[in-house]
Amino acid sequence: MSISSSDTQFDRHHIWHPYTALRDPLPTYPIARASGVRLYLEDGRALVDGMSSWWAAIHGYNHPALNDAVTAQLGKMSHVMFGGITHEPAIRLCQQLVAMTPAPLEKVFLADSGSISVEVALKMAVQYWQGRGQPQKCRYLTPRRGYHGDTFGAMSVTDPDSGMHWMFKGLLPGHVFMPMPEAPFDRDASNDLAIAEQYFAEHHQELAAVILEPVVQGAGGMRIYSPDYVKGIRALCDKYQVLLILDEIATGFGRTGKLFAMEWTEVFPDILCLGKALTGGYMTLAATLTTQEVADGISDSPAGCFMHGPTFMGNPLACAVACQSLALLSENHWQQQVAAIEAQLKAELLPLSAHEAVADVRVLGAIGVVEVKEPVKMAELQAKFVELGVWIRPFGKLIYLMPPYIIKPDELTQLTSAIKAAL
Ligand code: PMP
Repeated sequence: MSISSSDTQFDRHHIWHPYTALRDPLPTYPIARASGVRLYLEDGRALVDGMSSWWAAIHGYNHPALNDAVTAQLGKMSHVMFGGITHEPAIRLCQQLVAMTPAPLEKVFLADSGSISVEVALKMAVQYWQGRGQPQKCRYLTPRRGYHGDTFGAMSVTDPDSGMHWMFKGLLPGHVFMPMPEAPFDRDASNDLAIAEQYFAEHHQELAAVILEPVVQGAGGMRIYSPDYVKGIRALCDKYQVLLILDEIATGFGRTGKLFAMEWTEVFPDILCLGKALTGGYMTLAATLTTQEVADGISDSPAGCFMHGPTFMGNPLACAVACQSLALLSENHWQQQVAAIEAQLKAELLPLSAHEAVADVRVLGAIGVVEVKEPVKMAELQAKFVELGVWIRPFGKLIYLMPPYIIKPDELTQLTSAIKAAL
């Protein structure tokens, strides 16, 4: 069965897509199937994927090993409640996550999406301080231009101007926003840190945690900043007794050229959020990892336990495919894949900075960003990209690429050439 024009009309009038209105929405493109780095439109045209379905499909689509992992698990059980029950896919996945992250991160909460893993992290921090007899420590400090998800807790620590704060004014708790880090990737961040320290000094008694996206601020502007900043914030957290939450939902699993972006620094957080590429983009799953100390604090809190437990927690299908995705990550030599993508993105995108329409070009790992001077005309540009045989979804002034790691050089050139043509 394929999609008829009345189906697309139904879609247009009845189904919300991310961040769209149902009145006069932007067009959507019907995709029939996807394989490798290609998305196939219903009309048969193939598009080279530059987005990895929002940082997730790092091994490409319809991957035989990932398909097999899902199929094998499907024959055993697709889901079973996690309350009072455990299962091998969850245990294996958590063993791998504990092994691949810094040693102190040894306790895992499996959440059902990135936003939920952020909610979990925020709650963990508050319950920790309750357990340590400091219930007044229940606010968060975060840099502007951050993005942590669409649920209420996550929204409350997302940039108040570029995010959704004003729409939900009165419902969102007021947390503390400090200026965004300005120091570029290869610079020292002492100025930014001096400013940050003023916020710690003023607010530390009420702060449960700092939350930030290490090294790359994603949806808030695709900004790449100095690892020094993350390191300095860790030191400030220690000095002022504030927990550090790192949101690696977008940056985790190799995207920035390190397995985790925190590895650009020498520090690790008290709480770590992972998601997106965790399942190789096959299914929604996220994880929040923390330390023995935080887990102990939570156990000592008045509740005596951690207060969260979603219906689909630890979904076996998602855990099984995540285990396989992690196996592929090491088998496929992701470092070489990402390094090759980075070199090619630099060679093909950096020269675009001379173009009159371009404000900035930045590349880190398998992330390439062309920031233009004027906001793009989304519908027009999207149609142009489709016509050029690529799937690139710009937003605001940002045209960016984060392709699957398996992309070949000629396919990547197709993506960068399409950006050139669009400019
Ligand atoms: N944190 C970051 C850094 C993200 O990029 C995103 C998703 N764009 C989220 C949290 C929220 O994840 P999800 O969309 O899976 O809820």
